[in-house]
Amino acid sequence: MTFRAKVILTTVLMISGSFAASSILMVTGFYRSLIQESELRAVALVDGVAQMARNDLAARSLQGIDEALSSLRGEQEGNIGLVFAVVLDAHGRIITREVADGYDYISEHEFITRAGAAEIPLRNRMDFGGHEILLVSKPVKTAVKDLPGIRWGTVIGGMDIGRVRASIMPLIMRSVIVSVIFLAGFLTVVILLVRRGLILPVKRLAKAAESFATGDLRCRAAITSYDEIGQLAATFNDMADEIQVQTEHLEETVKARTWELEKANSRLQELAATDELTGLGNRRTFQTSLKREIRRSQRDFSCFSLLMLDVDHFKHYNDTHGHPAGDAVLAKLGEIIRNRLRVTDIPCRYGGEEFAMLLITTDRAGAIEIAESIRNRVEEDDFYGEGQQPQGKLTVSIGVATYPDDAKDAELLVDAADIAMYAAKNQGRNQVVAFSPEMSAKFLPVFKSHVR
Ligand code: GH3
Ligand code: MG
Ligand code: MG
Repeated sequence: MTFRAKVILTTVLMISGSFAASSILMVTGFYRSLIQESELRAVALVDGVAQMARNDLAARSLQGIDEALSSLRGEQEGNIGLVFAVVLDAHGRIITREVADGYDYISEHEFITRAGAAEIPLRNRMDFGGHEILLVSKPVKTAVKDLPGIRWGTVIGGMDIGRVRASIMPLIMRSVIVSVIFLAGFLTVVILLVRRGLILPVKRLAKAAESFATGDLRCRAAITSYDEIGQLAATFNDMADEIQVQTEHLEETVKARTWELEKANSRLQELAATDELTGLGNRRTFQTSLKREIRRSQRDFSCFSLLMLDVDHFKHYNDTHGHPAGDAVLAKLGEIIRNRLRVTDIPCRYGGEEFAMLLITTDRAGAIEIAESIRNRVEEDDFYGEGQQPQGKLTVSIGVATYPDDAKDAELLVDAADIAMYAAKNQGRNQVVAFSPEMSAKFLPVFKSHVR
């Protein structure tokens, strides 16, 4: 059952219950007082008739008595339920009467005899074959102050309580209908007030909580009352503010950390792929780049060239000037190589004092040209202590091989460039030599044994 249904049901049950209880008490009280009032009126009427009949009874004139009884018939129509009126003489005999149809049997009742003999007024409520009848008697006496007076006769009246009840019922029904209409109106107003003050705020709060729980962190409960629900809504809103701030802060921190992590990762990748001394790609980068360029050339039917560079008499340089000076030469060579190549080319330190360069979409002629410009630049540049080198300056030898002209796979291409470089050394160093198949036959055995 929903909260709304529970509140409305409780309200309706409470108000209707208390209304029904108070209505029952009120109606029964009202009913009793009406019956009582009818009884008192019957007694008063009988008293009145007794007063009127006194002189006529004394004078034995029945005319006045008949008139008095006729006046009672009028009262009967006035709905006090008077159905029986008789006048007895001093001996208790009926001398005149006014009886409604169907109530003759009352004349036979022993109350009539008792009342005719009694010195005081009698009153008795009794059941006559399903009819509840109230009988009232009044002795008729000469009124002499402080004396018993002469008894002239008795007036007896009978009232059918059922008739009184029947005459009261429409009145009661009317008041019940009016009360029910009033109750319906009252209930409507109460339910509207309960809905406005209780059900709607609770619903609003529940909806806000639901939206918040499903991720809408900006959702708040729009309740401004100062009652308990208002306090609850204010607490909920404070809590939502706090969670939103914390969540946003957390998201920002995670974002910043992720960015830092990505940066560190890419730096790590860069370091893993870079030679520390020269800043060029390392041997691993060279190997993966070479394979990738072969795939690309196969796909695009294009070519590329490999330059293999080796410093001439480097051992001598190291021995003469020390290892740190040799390192400085290698770093400077890295810079010269980088400056001579295009950004799309891939310069790497192959190992020791050897450099390998991949020249993208460059044929043999283009590669020789670039290799020559590097060699020339090294020859031209000043290097610390180069005058003590065997040739009086620091130089390099470069072997050139082109894919796919000189080799069909990565390993053979490196061999081809190495052989060409070996040929350059062999021919006197400080020169560029492009690979040719004849070279293979001449230098491969020597080269392989040299490599070993
Ligand atoms: P060649 O002209 O035939 O190439 O003679 P070379 O002396 O250069 O050849 P060799 O292979 O005999 O010597 C290579 C030298 O390179 C040996 C080593 O001391 C030096 N070398 C290798 N790696 C490094 C390095 O990282 N730093 C320094 N300073 N020297 C290195
Ligand atoms: Mg070498
Ligand atoms: Mg060398």
